[in-house]
Amino acid sequence: MTGRLTTGDTRVLTRIEYDRRDRCWLWQGGHGARDGRPRYEHSGTGEQLVSRIVYRIFFGAPVPEGWHLHHECENPRCVNPWHLRPLTPPAHNQVHRRLRSECKNGHAYTPENTGWVTRQGGKTERYCKACHRERQARRAGR
Ligand SMILES: [Zn+2]
Ligand SMILES: [Zn+2]
Ligand SMILES: [Zn+2]
Repeated sequence: MTGRLTTGDTRVLTRIEYDRRDRCWLWQGGHGARDGRPRYEHSGTGEQLVSRIVYRIFFGAPVPEGWHLHHECENPRCVNPWHLRPLTPPAHNQVHRRLRSECKNGHAYTPENTGWVTRQGGKTERYCKACHRERQARRAGR
């Protein structure tokens, strides 16, 4: 963490459920109804997206004006700055277009490589079988 923290920054930091760096950090405050992404009305800078505020606090520099923060973890509620990647809007669109046909590690979602899991609340989500196998191998190798 760098720089001085404003009162608003401190308020933001106390509303995060922290975890290890490789896990998602969940926002405990409210969010705008628009897209479910965590929002906070920051009096100092007028910033609203918690992900941007957290990114600035931890990395000491704001996300460039007009840029997006992409969630590497694909969890829009997550505000872990190590899961966020600043991208220009066209680059961001491109990532999401690619993510429809490939997982974030570049495995193609072929029928053989696509698994399905039912989340809490009954929502069905697709997962990459190759990544799943790699995760299990890593766990077994520990
Ligand atoms: Zn995350
Ligand atoms: Zn994104
Ligand atoms: Zn994969």
